[in-house]
Amino acid sequence: MSSTRNAVIVVPIVRHAPRPGPTATRHRPCRSPRGPGRGPGRGPGRGPGHGTVPGVVGAVWQARSVVASQGTPTSATTRSTPDGPRRRRAKPPATPLARTRRARSITAQLTVGYPDAHCELDFTTPLELGVATILSAQCTDVRVNQTTPALFARYRSAADYAGARREELEELIRPTGFYRNKTTSIIGLGQALVERFDGVLPHTLEELVTLPGFGRKTANVVLGNAFGVPGITVDTHLQRLTRRWGLTEAQDPVKIELELNAMLPPREWTMFSHRVIFHGRRVCAARKPACGACFLASSCPSFGDGPTDPAVAAALVTGEERDHLLALVGLDGDGAPVGMVGG
Ligand code: SF4
Repeated sequence: MSSTRNAVIVVPIVRHAPRPGPTATRHRPCRSPRGPGRGPGRGPGRGPGHGTVPGVVGAVWQARSVVASQGTPTSATTRSTPDGPRRRRAKPPATPLARTRRARSITAQLTVGYPDAHCELDFTTPLELGVATILSAQCTDVRVNQTTPALFARYRSAADYAGARREELEELIRPTGFYRNKTTSIIGLGQALVERFDGVLPHTLEELVTLPGFGRKTANVVLGNAFGVPGITVDTHLQRLTRRWGLTEAQDPVKIELELNAMLPPREWTMFSHRVIFHGRRVCAARKPACGACFLASSCPSFGDGPTDPAVAAALVTGEERDHLLALVGLDGDGAPVGMVGG
């Protein structure tokens, strides 16, 4: 992760100056965290991400992909708040093609933001990943990772789980919450694997979802991360963010998964899931998304759902990648613009 943190993103600068002729009327105002009227070409004092460090960090607001995405129409409306204009819930772009373009633009930007995104559950075998994913329901990955070393040392195979003493297993997984239900699922999983699959996790979605404790989300986690079979994991972060981005209006996780499957090529599915989850945990939180320090702001119709002031927003950004994420929008660790000459 250290390489991520220190990475310097070199992106091409695209000036926002309106083009002469009829196209100038289609120029859209800059939607940076600094708000309108502080865009490039306004001289000293403009906010982060406006080309004050030519070709390096901060220029992300003018990266070609971002500028291109600004041309995507959105249906979001605005209302005033003490924090400035705030957008109502984003609606999906009018056409499937526009929605797909936005999804792919966001995917490309997420790849820059989180090049090393990965499954944050610790595991060494598909079975361990399946058990860890069951434990992660209503629990943080950090807590699960604190719990599983002792569990995996005690139970090494499906047969071990099938023959587990209930009280002992409950005690081991108690810190993850809902431990009685989870114990039932894990023992049932071991028994089903022994009885129907020779103790080995199957490799298909259709078979995995027949196992106790395995919904479609868990099955996709195992397929994508243990078997290399592409799949989109629709968890709470992915549901929230794809709705904020106007990629879907669906509430049903299966419908969301199928809609996203149609927008993105299969090779992107697994990493897209990881990167969205990373962004949801580090920047775009449920209650206070860090809009003013978000590298997706130019593509996001929900910009303004959270604080837009860069310093306030930067304080909300978390994780090992924090410096890298803030550098992408031209901010230092305190949320101040980097590379400014004369303040
Ligand atoms: S933090 Fe704000 S701008 Fe960024 S993706 Fe979330 S809602 Fe959109």
